[in-house]
Amino acid sequence: MSNQNLLDIKSMLKDELEEKIQKLGFLKYRADQIYEWVMQKDASSFDDMTNIPKKERSILSQNFCINNLKTENVLNSKDANDETKKYLFKLSDGEFVESVLMKYKYGYSVCVSTQVGCKMGCKFCATGLSGFVRNLSAGEILSQIQKINKESKIRISHVVLMGMGEPLENYDNVIKFLRIASSKYSLNISARNISLSTCGIADKISLLATENFGVTLSVSLHASNNKIRDKIMPINRRFNIESLLKSCRYYISKTKRRISFQYTLVNGLNDSPECAIELSHKLKGMLCHVNLIKLNEVNKTSKFKSSVDSSIYRFRDTLIKMGIPATIRRSLGKSINAACGQLRNRKICLEKV
Ligand code: SF4
Repeated sequence: MSNQNLLDIKSMLKDELEEKIQKLGFLKYRADQIYEWVMQKDASSFDDMTNIPKKERSILSQNFCINNLKTENVLNSKDANDETKKYLFKLSDGEFVESVLMKYKYGYSVCVSTQVGCKMGCKFCATGLSGFVRNLSAGEILSQIQKINKESKIRISHVVLMGMGEPLENYDNVIKFLRIASSKYSLNISARNISLSTCGIADKISLLATENFGVTLSVSLHASNNKIRDKIMPINRRFNIESLLKSCRYYISKTKRRISFQYTLVNGLNDSPECAIELSHKLKGMLCHVNLIKLNEVNKTSKFKSSVDSSIYRFRDTLIKMGIPATIRRSLGKSINAACGQLRNRKICLEKV
């Protein structure tokens, strides 16, 4: 039987596994053992499950699989005081995705991918430049965390869905991943420590608000009006700033969570004091925070250039004066191109040579 017909245990909740194996004649408690092997001991084969009788392991291998990633490359940051590591993983079908491990005062955080490539086409994103290939399964998203936990011998406490792909375009698998990763039988990562980043799929933000998760929502805004946003984010033609902010207000009212707006400053495009004032009017009264980001230039020929430091400070100070909390994001992993998609693009280019 090909792997495609087998159920990946990493994409299943424990209850679902229980139900399936009982139908195969297993006793219910076996699900606890199998799930522990897969989720906590990161077993890569049913043969590792020494407390399961051989005959049952054989039945398991005929009905299930255990999704596994291969580490293709790891880049360590060369910057002092920066333990950022970037991983390039190979999936079972030969596609590549990236994940980034970062160390903060509160612990380890990993930024995971949710799709191979991305359809959204944001103009200054390396992933957007290479198009869309496919969605990742819940198990493939989970595996990125498990693999890094195991290889770096650490315990990741925070997860950011901000790698390659738009998580809300892979809605069902991402919701499944959130349920599995936050389960006490699996990685037990509190939903409060999970942050989901979106380019602004307004209808899905409203849907997510009703799921009762309370993950931290991070919204890539990058512009103070539709004219500028249309130029850099094609999604704005589907959901303009007004409809996006309406769904964000709904998310806040349902979850009581503060939204983080990402705003990348591009020289001469969106970094003027007028833009800061316009943005502050739009965000007035919202439970939110603005993260200002210095543009990580995708390539030297890009027409988008990073704002100068004085413009970035002026932008932040104007927002704060207008009553909008704002900070400049600490940029980790600069020496390893930590912006998503750059490592994968390089690998694909090398393979084409
Ligand atoms: Fe896709 Fe995010 Fe890149 Fe936009 S920024 S193209 S949503 S990966």
